[in-house]
Amino acid sequence: MPRMPYVDISECTACGTCEELCPGVFRLSEELGYATVIAPHGAAEEEIQEAIDACPVGAIRWEEEA
Ligand code: SF4
Repeated sequence: MPRMPYVDISECTACGTCEELCPGVFRLSEELGYATVIAPHGAAEEEIQEAIDACPVGAIRWEEEA
């Protein structure tokens, strides 16, 4: 089952780690104050998982694609 990452913006502290590790998928908006997914398939799942594991507040999760 394909899956895609999403950021729970209520938990994101805008640290920028996900964008540093996986810039093809995550983008930190300093204006908005949180990170968003700009391209859910912009990197291999392993790289996305690294960003998920590195998020200090656990704000990135997988969701099944419809
Ligand atoms: S690593 Fe987590 S807390 Fe940091 S910007 Fe990304 S989603 Fe937000």
